[in-house]
Amino acid sequence: MMISRFFAFSLFLISASLQAQSFNIMATVHPLAMVAASLVAPDQIEVLIPTGMSPHDFALRPSDIERLQEADVILWNGPNAEPFLQGFAQRWPDKIWLSAAPSDAPANADDHWWFNPHVMLDLQHQLALVLEREERSFEVALQAQLQTSQEALAAVRHHGFFVFHRAYDHWVEVMQLNQVGAFTLSPEQKPGLRTLHRMRQQLQQGEVQCVFSEPQFSPALIDSVTRGLNIRRGELDPMAAHIPLSANAYVEFIADLTERFVACLTPETP
Ligand SMILES: [Zn+2]
Repeated sequence: MMISRFFAFSLFLISASLQAQSFNIMATVHPLAMVAASLVAPDQIEVLIPTGMSPHDFALRPSDIERLQEADVILWNGPNAEPFLQGFAQRWPDKIWLSAAPSDAPANADDHWWFNPHVMLDLQHQLALVLEREERSFEVALQAQLQTSQEALAAVRHHGFFVFHRAYDHWVEVMQLNQVGAFTLSPEQKPGLRTLHRMRQQLQQGEVQCVFSEPQFSPALIDSVTRGLNIRRGELDPMAAHIPLSANAYVEFIADLTERFVACLTPETP
């Protein structure tokens, strides 16, 4: 009796570990795939929303649903950020759904969760548990990078800046930066004239030293608001499309983000 039960348990362990090796992982956006790539090879990871496409107005196509169906583990930003997946999360409870959104997140929180490195570390731990992987090097490298970022931003964190859309709240909070405003809540919404007028005034009053654009959207709007003023310009890609998937991709993303903020917020020496 004891022996057969032990034997059955061993079989269970073997099948569980075999399963772990063949998990198909899908991340909704490239930045979540960067976190998954710290644990599994890039070719085992599918990304649902192509990097050139805005996740804000994304709609699933039939081919996306087929790809989702083949995934065993889905990393997503939760039902508030990605409502198109909510029904599938309920319909397919046998899949492992790992949401980056913390369970106590308020409904109006900025849901670009990948800009919070602590939330991403938590997501990486959840995935490591599912995959039964003991993996510490990601955490060590990320903590070291965060220390470097804090030091690099210390001298410029009170310098004001505008971002193109509201995507960076978590980064601003973690690094205690001075974000004065955003042109738009979502890239699909054009800012109103009143907003643009207020932003122009803030620029004229010297509250803002740097304005960030985004590669997917025309900078014409920012050109017109900053015209004639000596304002530094930077570019931020919230989807991090320029960083290829690798074990170190997410840490590289944080290093790159830090450099972009330091470059735009540091005044030119006369
Ligand atoms: Zn966004």
